[in-house]
Amino acid sequence: MARKAFDEARDQRIANEAGNDKALMCCALRCPNRWSVDGERGKCCSAHAWSDHRLWPQITQEQLDAESDRAIAAAMPKAEAGQVDKRAAIQALQRFVARTNGG
Ligand SMILES: [Zn+2]
Repeated sequence: MARKAFDEARDQRIANEAGNDKALMCCALRCPNRWSVDGERGKCCSAHAWSDHRLWPQITQEQLDAESDRAIAAAMPKAEAGQVDKRAAIQALQRFVARTNGG
């Protein structure tokens, strides 16, 4: 079988998946969430579905901010709770207790 760069079936499958992704998204403009409630306002995420329509722009911004925060947190190196940190925390606690009991 000859291999070709253009694979119509594969490309159509990818295009269909891209279309499906859009159908899975919340109906609120620019909302980054997938819909989870199919209500009278359409298919919305739970944040939009149960809130006053006038608050939607603010809710959308909160959802976008939360998504950004999660992306930033995921990109940050994870702090290991190493032996040094535990020892420093215990020493700080002991100093606090000594101060509290002594004062
Ligand atoms: Zn939403």
